[in-house]
Amino acid sequence: MTHLPAAPDFRAAPDFTEMLLAPGTTQPHHATSVPIFQTSSFLFERYEDMAEVFAGTSDRFIYTRGNNPTVAQLESLIARLEGTEAARGFASGMAAVAAAIMPFVQAGDRVVAVENLYSDAFRLFEVVLKKFGVTTTYVNGSDTDAVIAALPGAKLVYLESPTSWTFTLQDLPAIAQAARNLGVISVIDNSWATPLYQRPAEAGIDLIIHAASKYLCGHSDTIAGLVTGSKALMTRINHEAYHYLGGKMSPFDAWLVLRGMQTLNLRMARHMENGLALGRALTDHPLVAAVRHPGFHPHAGRAGLSGYGGLFAFDLDDSIDIPRFANALRVAKIGVSWGGPESLIIPAQAALGLSGSANSFQRFGVSARSVRFAAGLEEPSALVADVLNAIEEAKR
Ligand SMILES: *Cc1c(COP(=O)(O)O)cnc(C)c1O
Repeated sequence: MTHLPAAPDFRAAPDFTEMLLAPGTTQPHHATSVPIFQTSSFLFERYEDMAEVFAGTSDRFIYTRGNNPTVAQLESLIARLEGTEAARGFASGMAAVAAAIMPFVQAGDRVVAVENLYSDAFRLFEVVLKKFGVTTTYVNGSDTDAVIAALPGAKLVYLESPTSWTFTLQDLPAIAQAARNLGVISVIDNSWATPLYQRPAEAGIDLIIHAASKYLCGHSDTIAGLVTGSKALMTRINHEAYHYLGGKMSPFDAWLVLRGMQTLNLRMARHMENGLALGRALTDHPLVAAVRHPGFHPHAGRAGLSGYGGLFAFDLDDSIDIPRFANALRVAKIGVSWGGPESLIIPAQAALGLSGSANSFQRFGVSARSVRFAAGLEEPSALVADVLNAIEEAKR
């Protein structure tokens, strides 16, 4: 049976173009594009100017590991879009993930995370945090009662809605409320939906992470990350992670992301359209065993989304030779990452089967028959024809 996406329920997307420039802002020399301040240091005209900075009575730019005007424009943009007070740019999505967690945990603490989360976030918990005495409990994120039952005594709850390979959603308002009542900090990776299609702060989530390498940049040409939330929590991130872990965003990367975000609403509409077109073509296909896309399986948390990202997965029937399927694609390419103009696939058996333990497929909720598909910006009909043709060519 086809579960049609809840498109008619979508709220209107925020008026995004108006939010790109802070009201009343002009660029130096009235430049149309944001200038790149490619400088490590900022000079002081007088001794007193420097002394004021060190006395904490002036917050001017000093050193780019701390603050940079180009990066600051992107930080202020993401905070406006997410409806939060403050934000920080990082050198990668993973630097953002690490900085959003490290200040809030210490040896002996416990974190709650959703099952099947982004693989390197999982490894951060299992390889790095575990070494420092922080343990993680994994729960099925679509089971809201199970998530809430795991919260007492935890320091932080880490969400990803939807999750990276299974694309299951969480009930953000219910989890955020329970976490707040228990003093547990709630964190979400919002890279898939972007602030256009999901605004977790409105649901009460404390900290929002973006792998800006993906949709926000949107051109497959940089690695960058962001964290945004209240002034109080962002101050802790500044004082207990950001400056000392040092993984900050470069001015040029911030410029690339700002450049990309000017077309975010147009790009997201096409990514969504392509993901849905493929989902429709594959849902009733006799050689497709499952479609893992929030629009095509019923979910409690779907009401929180005002649109869909174009990244999803599907499981091919046993009668399809997956390497032949991958090699038969002409429009979509084989490659990791997502969020750029080109459609990219990762066959699970190529990516997860060789690295890690025998049960690594199960750990990420992935079947050996799964293919992750990042729908790009191509013509929807060309993309659908490409995938259907590759399935035909790959029949054993
Ligand atoms: C890619 C990705 C990240 C990490 O971002 P990088 O910029 O590659 O470090 C985090 N979360 C999700 C969901 C991702 O897909």
